Amino acid sequence: MSWKKETNCIQAGYTPKNGEPRVLPIYQSTTYKYDSADHLGKLFDLEADGHMYSRISNPTVSAVEEKINVLEGGVGALCTSSGQAANLLAILNITSAGENFISLSSIYGGTINLFAVTLKRMGIEVRFITPDMDDAQIEALFDDKTRLVFGETIANPALDVLDIEKYAKLAHAHKVPLVVDNTFATPILCTPIEFGADIVVHSTTKYMDGQATVVGGVIVDSGNFDWSVDGKYPGLTQPDESYHGVVYTKNFGKAAYITKARVQLMRDFGVLPPAAAAFMLNSGLTTLHLRMERHSSNALAVAKHLEKHEKIAWVNYPGLESSKDYALAKKYLPDGCSGVISFGVKGGREAAVKFMDSLELAAIVVHVADARTCVLHPASTTHRQLTDDQLKAAGIGSDLVRMSIGIEHVDDIIEDIDNALAKV
Ligand SMILES: *Cc1c(COP(=O)(O)O)cnc(C)c1O
Repeated sequence: MSWKKETNCIQAGYTPKNGEPRVLPIYQSTTYKYDSADHLGKLFDLEADGHMYSRISNPTVSAVEEKINVLEGGVGALCTSSGQAANLLAILNITSAGENFISLSSIYGGTINLFAVTLKRMGIEVRFITPDMDDAQIEALFDDKTRLVFGETIANPALDVLDIEKYAKLAHAHKVPLVVDNTFATPILCTPIEFGADIVVHSTTKYMDGQATVVGGVIVDSGNFDWSVDGKYPGLTQPDESYHGVVYTKNFGKAAYITKARVQLMRDFGVLPPAAAAFMLNSGLTTLHLRMERHSSNALAVAKHLEKHEKIAWVNYPGLESSKDYALAKKYLPDGCSGVISFGVKGGREAAVKFMDSLELAAIVVHVADARTCVLHPASTTHRQLTDDQLKAAGIGSDLVRMSIGIEHVDDIIEDIDNALAKV
């Protein structure tokens, strides 16, 4: 049966049989019992389906993976311990030392550190597409060692909207996949696979959980990319010695990428989500469709209000007609632009800090994208480790205030903001 997103948020992934618990149980077990050594052997050889050890898979986690997979329209998903772990595995699954990949520069600060510092130490080079580059300069970033293109649907915190079709075409022209971090949009507002993305990643810590309770991540495989092109991905098309010569593209077809990520990388790195965390994530997902609607309408109302406010220098929200990405937002985010806005308070860094300190409902926290309105000054917190040039490339000025609009009543949020601005 094929359901709409709203129904899948609630129903997908877990279908109890006669007499089984109505609600997805927490399978708090590291291990699974089998009647024969032969069956267990087949599991080890990837010849039979089933759970073997909870580092590789667990029934609670599997149910959540299937729900997210259905929402994104993929062939398989893998939950991880964090969004960082999801991005790490998504890249390592198809990139080795001596190779490179291309990323939009306006992305999450933690991802920039992972790409530019830690992966570099592992011999993998990231090449950034900066906003000032023309098509020829972007083309020049590719060579025969390039393995993927990476971007965020709505960049955190620059809020640039990714032209998914354009970058999918660019990646595919070079016979590499497009990997899209869909954290801020969630599959409720945008499904990147529809527009040509090959792999979708998330920090589920944000809207998917939505309550700020559990850190987590997920990778979804569209199943659409042909890994056999050009011999670029021997890890997928050549025998894996650690599984007696399994060839992922041959044995697992469209699910080659996500199977390898699980049975090889999750096996070796062990960055798994506990069953209890997956249970919490599943509870969050149950209301994702309702929350994204309210986050989006509240954020648009606040953005419009700020745009008219005399103490505000500028407002950035892709849902505003004044946004440089308004046309992209209309195309990729027709149902709303999510809950994060950014703006500058007149008076720069000092005024921004005074404003933030004066808020009462909105709390200063290192988080975004949960039910409670919160606020952050990226230049002095989440993006503190970046150089001035990196800050500029990521689209972050020193006066930028990032506000994550919650699902409280919008009048209360606006009143809090007005009261705080009055003190600036
Ligand atoms: C938060 C975030 C991450 C990192 O996720 P964690 O769950 O904190 O590890 C990655 N990408 C984006 C867009 C994020 O907002």
